Amino acid sequence: MILDMQGANQSVIQDMQIFKKIPDPKSSVSKVECYVCGKGLTDGYCISAKTLPSGIALFCDTHYPLQ
Ligand SMILES: [Zn+2]
Repeated sequence: MILDMQGANQSVIQDMQIFKKIPDPKSSVSKVECYVCGKGLTDGYCISAKTLPSGIALFCDTHYPLQ
């Protein structure tokens, strides 16, 4: 049980590190914008990452709960 908890925490930390690896959006293919509607931080939306079977996708506050 304790090992399972630690594994979950490490997964979260890895997600955070992925964000830190994107210092300049212009130099990266990945943009911080909603996977569904394309709204991003520059549009005033709060973007959150969610891990999907196909990988990590970003969603705005509106679409994050829907996925
Ligand atoms: Zn959206």
